[in-house]
Amino acid sequence: MIQHKIVALIALLFFTACSSTPDNETPIAPPAVPESTTTSVSAAVPAELAQHSTTLTEPPPSLAAPKISPPPPSHHESPKGTEPAIALGWLKNGNIRFTKGYFRKDGKSKSDIKRLVAGQYPHTIVLSCSDSRVPPEHAFDQALGEIFVIRVAGEALDSSVVASIEYAVEHLGARLLVVMGHTHCGAIKAALSSKPGQSVGSADLDALVADIKPRISSIAATSDVSEASSKNASGVAEDLVKRSKILSDKVHDGTLVIKSAMYWLNSGTVSWLE
Ligand SMILES: [Zn+2]
Repeated sequence: MIQHKIVALIALLFFTACSSTPDNETPIAPPAVPESTTTSVSAAVPAELAQHSTTLTEPPPSLAAPKISPPPPSHHESPKGTEPAIALGWLKNGNIRFTKGYFRKDGKSKSDIKRLVAGQYPHTIVLSCSDSRVPPEHAFDQALGEIFVIRVAGEALDSSVVASIEYAVEHLGARLLVVMGHTHCGAIKAALSSKPGQSVGSADLDALVADIKPRISSIAATSDVSEASSKNASGVAEDLVKRSKILSDKVHDGTLVIKSAMYWLNSGTVSWLE
């Protein structure tokens, strides 16, 4: 009799528990994990971590197998004063890698960071626009310590820019200088459309535009910005030689080669101006 009461009580409790949930309530399921989440996490890892893990699995230098033949020269093993033609070849090859999406893995490890504490011998100086879409290290696929970069809107010249280039030529031994303009350049656009005596926003902005404007004076305000940008890059290369005796002497004795170039935003390609 007691057992029957217990069974009846359990049945009553079970029924009460079940009936407290409305029939139309949708069961709560765990939030679905979008497929793209998994993909993006795994895709975000390789670039840095893959490089890191590769470095960690390498044996320390003392245990490394002896090299049978000298390794081929690479960018970061180049001596001070790399021949301009060789440096230019590295930049051209690097830009091909960049446009094809194939990048070097060397030159960015912890050992490279430590190696460069002792000093730097960049093979090339690059003066380019500050535009976030035009990073020379990426466009030329160059690693740590390989290119000495000065970036300023419209590659405009002032004392700091010229001094930085002079320093790299005199003290770091760089023998190739590249002045690289680019398509859709905002600074060139501002200089092209500004009218004489008209401020573009501040005294410093006016000074920047005033430096650029004479180099593109022959270009009509309605012309393609790319044409003006190209003209400006060539003009900067010429003005640097006129303005700096250090650079002028180095160019005339054949130590320094100056090239101007254009970076095309639509393709990532660098074309070389003569
Ligand atoms: Zn620009």
